[in-house]
Amino acid sequence: TNFWASVPQGPPDPILGVSEAFAKDQSSNKINVGVGAYRDENGKPYVLESVSKAEDILHQKRSNKEYLPITGEADFVKLASELAYGKDCKALQDGRIAVSQSISGTGALRIATGFLSMFYSGPRVVYLPNPTWGNHIPVVEQTGMRVARYRYFDKKTVGLDFDGMKEDIKAAEQGSIILLHACAQNPTGIDPTQDQWKELCEITKAKKHLVLFDMAYQGFASGDIIRDAFAVRYFVEQGHQILLAQSFAKNLGLYGERIGTFSMVCTNKEEKDRIQSQVKRVIRPLYSSPPLHGAQLVATILGSPELYEQWLGEVKKMADRIIAMRERLYDLLVEFKTPGEWGHIKSQIGMFSFTGLTPEQVDALKDHAHVYMTRDGRISMAGLNEGNIQYFAESVSKAVK
Ligand code: PLP
Repeated sequence: TNFWASVPQGPPDPILGVSEAFAKDQSSNKINVGVGAYRDENGKPYVLESVSKAEDILHQKRSNKEYLPITGEADFVKLASELAYGKDCKALQDGRIAVSQSISGTGALRIATGFLSMFYSGPRVVYLPNPTWGNHIPVVEQTGMRVARYRYFDKKTVGLDFDGMKEDIKAAEQGSIILLHACAQNPTGIDPTQDQWKELCEITKAKKHLVLFDMAYQGFASGDIIRDAFAVRYFVEQGHQILLAQSFAKNLGLYGERIGTFSMVCTNKEEKDRIQSQVKRVIRPLYSSPPLHGAQLVATILGSPELYEQWLGEVKKMADRIIAMRERLYDLLVEFKTPGEWGHIKSQIGMFSFTGLTPEQVDALKDHAHVYMTRDGRISMAGLNEGNIQYFAESVSKAVK
């Protein structure tokens, strides 16, 4: 017998598929703006200096390779949550936030949906922005929960559809789970303003919704880790019992180390202990306990005043390079008299820009210019640099004309 004859071919991953096609392209001027990983001014993957120094320190230490506890490395977990919530966060000081190490942001989201599917007594529906990071959908659905959407992107203004967003969140059944991108929304690069966050905080509270924050880009959006954590910290201050998925993939360039945290703000310490005991029961059958190295790296950096300062400078440098590329791309598109309004390239924030290019234009860029991006017209600004931006802008300009 063949057990697997009826298993159909799965669809290619829309993001990783772009990289595969790019790798096959033999052209010397090919450009990949599909993948969401930072590239330096020479288009190369970038290892932060603070990370290299932490690697050296760890190498000297020659520590053992024992298992970590189910919830991860204690120093890491403490330092990481201080970074997200702020050292002066009352809930953190009260010891009522349940925090676990996670397999980066995705793993944190998967713990969240696993926990919710086991214990949430409200509606089993997670509201995601439209559009959102594609992986949010299966992460929710694989735990048997339902996905619903709230409006987010306004095609006409290439900006935030704030009225639509509010309407949909208000119309959701009381106690729904609302996923919010904490900063640098992927794929649009459009975030609510601080005043808009305050309104969202009130609306979600009035509707007794449960808020799940996905924070994959702290520091990467504005270059300032405090500013990028505004929404998370504000909601907690206002008494929301948020859930948080935190990732160190982008802001520390630790993509492949798979390091992050999952946390839940509880009402008191006793409740936190109960919650944490159940979070452990979600994690244990998934992967038993988390990996060691990334946690040690992050703890070494966040725990050393000198490396911490250096890291802050490096995050800012990455964010600033992206912001500079936005300005440059805008100027070039205008210089080439590209039809349309391109101001959104400058006002959007974080790794991505949602260009407004149509799927047909995206295909033409690939076929005629060796320029690769996802078909929704999202580009990773980090894929652009002084060496390729002129050619990129020219190619986009031609594709639009
Ligand atoms: N959430 C968002 C919005 C993202 O863009 C990403 C990565 O692209 C992630 C979560 C998770 O990334 P990772 O699992 O690498 O931390």
